[in-house]
Amino acid sequence: MIKVYIGLGSNLDDPADKIRSARLIIAKQSKIKENSFSSLYSSPPMGPQDQPDYVNAVMCIDTDLPALDLLKVLQAIENDFGRVRKGEQWGARTLDLDLLLYADQKIEHPDLIVPHIGLSERAFVLYPLQEIAANDLFVPGKGLLEQLVAQCPLNGLKRLI
Ligand code: AMP
Repeated sequence: MIKVYIGLGSNLDDPADKIRSARLIIAKQSKIKENSFSSLYSSPPMGPQDQPDYVNAVMCIDTDLPALDLLKVLQAIENDFGRVRKGEQWGARTLDLDLLLYADQKIEHPDLIVPHIGLSERAFVLYPLQEIAANDLFVPGKGLLEQLVAQCPLNGLKRLI
């Protein structure tokens, strides 16, 4: 089994509820077993500010799925939640699922970059990740999680529950 971290985010239609439902749906997929789940956090939107705050969390799973297959599973779940792609990067979204880390692998594929781009400087990823990962977790190509967190201001991130 491979240990994988997934970032969850939503800022539309009761986002906390969306994150909780997405967690249950991810955990029910075949070849996926939930390992741990962070608290929920709220964070101000990146990009356009005329949209609601985000709710974010990080989930750790064990899986036998190859990384690209897992990405497809996550994208199918996003689509089921009715995410609307309007071409605007960082626009409001029902559910965003990011494959943050896939064991200790670096993946550079046209459809999949792992570690996820932005992981090492985004408070809404690093702080929930730190809550459920070991401090000596090494982010391939970036460094120790503990150091990445120490260098990352909260930027308005708040723990909800
Ligand atoms: P976004 O709108 O930011 O969620 O980006 C979605 C696009 O990013 C999709 O076309 C994915 O193929 C691509 N992508 C690249 N790396 C990743 C990753 N680690 N996790 C999720 N999507 C990724």
